[in-house]
Amino acid sequence: MRENHALLEFLEERVETEDILKHEPMSKHTSFRIGGEADLFVRVPSQKALSEILKYCNQVGQEYFILGKGTNLLVGDKGYRGMILQLSQQMADIRVEGNTLFAQTGAPLPLVAKVAAENGLSGLEFASGIPGSLGGAIVMNAGAYDGEMKQVIRYVKVLDQMGEEMNLDNDTMEFGYRTSIIKDRPFVAVEAEMRLTPAPKDEIFAKMEELNQRRRDKQPLEYPSAGSTFKRPEGHFAGKLIMDAGLRGLRVGDAQVSEKHCGFIINIGNATAEDVTELMEEIQSRVKKQLGVRLEPEVIRIGEF
Ligand SMILES: Cc1cc2nc3c(=O)[nH]c(=O)nc-3n(C[C@H](O)[C@H](O)[C@H](O)COP(=O)(O)OP(=O)(O)OC[C@H]3O[C@@H](n4cnc5c(N)ncnc54)[C@H](O)[C@@H]3O)c2cc1C
Repeated sequence: MRENHALLEFLEERVETEDILKHEPMSKHTSFRIGGEADLFVRVPSQKALSEILKYCNQVGQEYFILGKGTNLLVGDKGYRGMILQLSQQMADIRVEGNTLFAQTGAPLPLVAKVAAENGLSGLEFASGIPGSLGGAIVMNAGAYDGEMKQVIRYVKVLDQMGEEMNLDNDTMEFGYRTSIIKDRPFVAVEAEMRLTPAPKDEIFAKMEELNQRRRDKQPLEYPSAGSTFKRPEGHFAGKLIMDAGLRGLRVGDAQVSEKHCGFIINIGNATAEDVTELMEEIQSRVKKQLGVRLEPEVIRIGEF
């Protein structure tokens, strides 16, 4: 993207200068620690600013991508030609009223789960170790240990392409396995209402600790990754298929099938998006050939590879 003065002027009227970053390395914003430069990276301070920016982008045909915390993303080595929009820390309020928790989607999911626990509300224990934003978790219907966002969400407030606000109820969200209506439509989630169940705080915290210990025991959390690389194929576990195909520890450059959990590709040094892509293709082809199962990526790819 050539320097777009009209866009920059528009942004500067709504966003602090330090929150408009040019040529920003996306490796700084992804849990894989991979990704070339985004032409523009903007931390959006408010729903009003977001609404105006979305409307502007759609009127002038400006490319943009909504980033959560980049924990399910593979950004190409040549970066992203357009504007990355991330909800800033000012769009991360969390409040509790009775059994209902309201949160803005820029909030980190583990923090949302912690606030629920502190208020003696059960239902988000499964979420306390999922390292994304609430927004990303809603879009992906993130889940673990028999829990998923679908079980707790009552409403999601979204903005459409023209910046108009809408409230989508649980049914309208079309939650499925690692998907929701927002994965296919240009909506931005800005706030959510969650219905939780009262329970003793110590029990909630104990459950969270137990699940997080299971994560630490089984997952290679000491390395950069994007979590599970592939979705769980019906009737199988991706990690087990990869292990059974003899691919534990397989490497392309600095991208490696984790020896601790074969469902994770980890970055053991300076892996590139190309390394990860090549490794993913090799895994898919060998698992298909040896075990007859097609693995579908869970990780979302954006940008130029
Ligand atoms: C160590 C590790 C463990 C993990 N464990 C799990 C797990 O147990 N279960 C699980 O489900 N996932 C897991 N993940 C994957 C990841 O954390 C989840 O998918 C998470 O919900 C992604 O959130 P994010 O904010 O990082 O989204 P991003 O990766 O930034 O974005 C994901 C998608 O959501 C969209 N998006 C983000 N925010 C918004 C918004 N406000 N409005 C509209 N679209 C938006 C993006 O455009 C993109 O399409 C794990 C990842 C890691 C690194």
